[in-house]
Amino acid sequence: MMNNNEMLLLKLGEVVLKGLNRRSFEDRLVSNVRRRLKGCGSFQVYIRQSTIYVEPTTDNCDMEAAHAAARQVFGVVSVARAVPCEKTVEAIVATARTYLADAFAAAKSFKVESKRADKQYPMNSIQISQAVGGDLAELFPAVAVDVHNPDLTVYVEIREKHAYVHAPSVPGAGGLPVGMGGHAVSLLSGGLDSPVSSWMMARRGVELEMVHFVSPPYTSQQAQDKVLELARLLTAYCGRMIVHIVPFTEIQEEIRKNCPEEYFTLIMRRFMMRLAEAVAKKAGAKALITGESLGQVASQTMMALGVTEDVTTMPVLRPLIGMDKVEIIRISREIGTYETSILPYEDCCTVFTPRHPATRPNPEDVRKAEAALDVDALVSRALGGETWVRVKP
Ligand code: ATP
Ligand code: MG
Repeated sequence: MMNNNEMLLLKLGEVVLKGLNRRSFEDRLVSNVRRRLKGCGSFQVYIRQSTIYVEPTTDNCDMEAAHAAARQVFGVVSVARAVPCEKTVEAIVATARTYLADAFAAAKSFKVESKRADKQYPMNSIQISQAVGGDLAELFPAVAVDVHNPDLTVYVEIREKHAYVHAPSVPGAGGLPVGMGGHAVSLLSGGLDSPVSSWMMARRGVELEMVHFVSPPYTSQQAQDKVLELARLLTAYCGRMIVHIVPFTEIQEEIRKNCPEEYFTLIMRRFMMRLAEAVAKKAGAKALITGESLGQVASQTMMALGVTEDVTTMPVLRPLIGMDKVEIIRISREIGTYETSILPYEDCCTVFTPRHPATRPNPEDVRKAEAALDVDALVSRALGGETWVRVKP
């Protein structure tokens, strides 16, 4: 399927349902598409009637890469590679004949499906399909017409200026355009869960900023690099983002020295929440995101989650809360973070793990245990050591 005129048609999902906000959703989506396609060449990107047109403006555009990139933009439900032509049956047939020659050669049966966005057009969609299908059947006598279960469906769209011919479209990433769902800080570890939870919230239109806690020398530079790589993999969907690196060693050592072992993890997680909230406030973000899933580990029982979020007033979004590990792993494979997540480096969470963690903790007991620490001083020293990295696609 080679053609110099080839372009992309992106169909919008929920965006079309957004009533009065629709305009700003569409504007955001168009600008996200433009930004994400920059690395693939020079394109004209515009929107008409709930379809985004992506047209190469030079002949050195990488259409393969543009197609892949467009499929990763949230807010796009399907992507088709298409060729425009004049709005006549002859031109449509001639275009389908050359553009889809390989597909016809591989098919035993075909049908034509037409859509008419231009309601002034003199033929209706059934008439267009019949006329184009009849001519193509004559041109490809070895390929039978089968309107029920064809090997190949030829799509014809009659739009404002041109007709477009394409083979079936492929699914896009769905969801809402990043930026329309607010701004949140996601707690990113090197595990399987948090890249998936970040991706899920980004798909709901949330713009992300990451925070990652490190405990050198208990955790290694490789562990930190792995997290930056996970963030980089997510930029294909979310666009560029900032990753805040917050030192966590002193807090963990103080907890180990001064608190009962059964509460180590819980108190540590409360510090993560406080620090993440401070980072979020400074960034103007309005929520925190974690990869917690109910019952997955001792610190993710219902009561443990209550104790953990007791120290923050921000909403804590936990998109994986009701998901099984197999479902989480399936998504991590689909979005391409799995192979990096399973690299075996220590996370600070696994440094001082209690032998018998409390699974039914009482917030009051944990608060008392924590009173042995100078919480404010520890938080402000950790924040003082914060650094950040801007991660780009
Ligand atoms: P994951 O595999 O994604 O890390 P997990 O199952 O290992 O999750 P925990 O280690 O208990 O679970 O962590 C729960 C959540 O806390 C993580 O999903 C993540 O959101 C956050 N978290 C854990 N460790 C860190 C860290 N070092 N930096 C930032 N966030 C972290
Ligand atoms: Mg983890």
